[in-house]
Amino acid sequence: MGDLSNVISGERVSALSGATLANTDPATNTEIGRIPRSAAADVDAAVSAAKAALAGPWGRTTAEERAALLDRIADGIEARLDDFARAESRDTGKPLWLARKVDIPRAVANFRFFAGAVRHDETGSQRTGSAINYTVRKPLGVVALITPWNLPLYLLSWKTAPALAMGNTVVAKPSEMTPSTATMMAELMVEVGLPPGVFNVIHGLGPEAGGPLVGHEDVAAVSFTGGTATGRIVARTAAPMFKKLSLELGGKNATIVFDDCDLERTLDGVVRAAFLNQGQICLCGSRLLVQRSIYDRFVPAFIEKVRALKVGPPAEPDSFLGALVSEAHRDKVEGYVRLAREEGGTIACGGDRPDLPGAFLRPAVVTGLTTDARTACEEIFGPVVTVHPFDDEEDAIRMANSVQYGLAASVWTENLRRAHTVSERLDTGMVWVNCWLLRDLRVPFGGVKDSGVGREGGHHSLEFFSDAQNICIQLG
Ligand code: NDP
Repeated sequence: MGDLSNVISGERVSALSGATLANTDPATNTEIGRIPRSAAADVDAAVSAAKAALAGPWGRTTAEERAALLDRIADGIEARLDDFARAESRDTGKPLWLARKVDIPRAVANFRFFAGAVRHDETGSQRTGSAINYTVRKPLGVVALITPWNLPLYLLSWKTAPALAMGNTVVAKPSEMTPSTATMMAELMVEVGLPPGVFNVIHGLGPEAGGPLVGHEDVAAVSFTGGTATGRIVARTAAPMFKKLSLELGGKNATIVFDDCDLERTLDGVVRAAFLNQGQICLCGSRLLVQRSIYDRFVPAFIEKVRALKVGPPAEPDSFLGALVSEAHRDKVEGYVRLAREEGGTIACGGDRPDLPGAFLRPAVVTGLTTDARTACEEIFGPVVTVHPFDDEEDAIRMANSVQYGLAASVWTENLRRAHTVSERLDTGMVWVNCWLLRDLRVPFGGVKDSGVGREGGHHSLEFFSDAQNICIQLG
């Protein structure tokens, strides 16, 4: 991609200060280009462009017209799937096959899904004596979308599609570590006919560009996906300004394996849940709870499968794990491997660097820790899993619920009663039974406790990105 620009009002522009930041390929540790280091003045320009676009033809579009545009964006991304996948893999270090198979196709699916959702959206009507009430949905105005580096286009499209479907205009701030696909998408939107200023992208650091965006008086809503600590900062700014706020934050998700599970299927599912995308998915199962009666059989088989995972260059089709997103992030993950040892854990495999030039790390399995050890409770967001035995259902539920996070969990059992009753007692926004990351875009997505506030997906997203107005007409 080389050097990138901000995209404001359909134009490629540099930061007003002229300052730039490096964009680094973490799989080779080489600089691949520069991006604008935006600040408050650039945010002002982007928000002004978005505000002006609301007053233009975009503000008069129908839902059908916007749905047709979303379909054109989906077609445009699909037509250049390979370019998008290469850019995503280079920015993140993730395997190219994963970007081709998951990240980019799911971004395409997000646009198609919300095109359909807004076409079929319905609002209620209530008859009250001689009056009739009905609801109309109005766009909020300018919305800020702030997204992390782990699934860059996938998560940005997950917010952009419903925001545009409901008639808002957008200023997006992707992570400065993964700027490419957001820029490519903004440029594509101009090509497919989205009016200038409807979708704007600014690049830069969180506190310098993201902070002023969240605090901008003309931004009506903030949809943020990222870490819990950053979410707190965002909430502190946005809440007193009465902005609508959606926070999708961190996780420390339990994978609960009962002795009546289908062993082979479970082993494959648990390995994938632990280490897909180098363990850098908010939904990854990083606390593996295994029923004591099968612990001695299950854990060695799990470790054997983890040892067999290939860590390698992203372009090689058999690399299950690529590089972590940066050297700094690998340092943080390695710090947790050291902490696990200090806390009395055993590194049963991995946690060391393979002989490759970039930010690679072998997937680590840690045994022998109590569930209240820091390594077992704090979000590591990398290829490290802690394993713990439990005795019965009560024990498993208590252990799973003992962390501050409440995003997701998975339960592995062939017992239907157990699947249902255990799932319902887990303090998480989502539970998968005998599967993981099986997504239906209609279902509520989000967490409880420190994992966030609000739900995205289907009508939840359409409601978040609009204001409901009730109109009551006296008929008599
Ligand atoms: P961060 O919280 O560091 O950053 C998220 C985004 O916020 C980035 O664009 C960042 O910019 C920006 N940002 C940072 N500081 C501020 C600020 N003061 N004001 C406004 N914006 C700011 O998260 P990471 O990028 O490190 O992503 C990893 C985290 O995301 C993990 O905790 C993970 O669990 C969570 N996540 C949650 C998901 C969910 O759906 N619940 C899904 C995926 C990830 P910059 O990068 O430039 O600093």
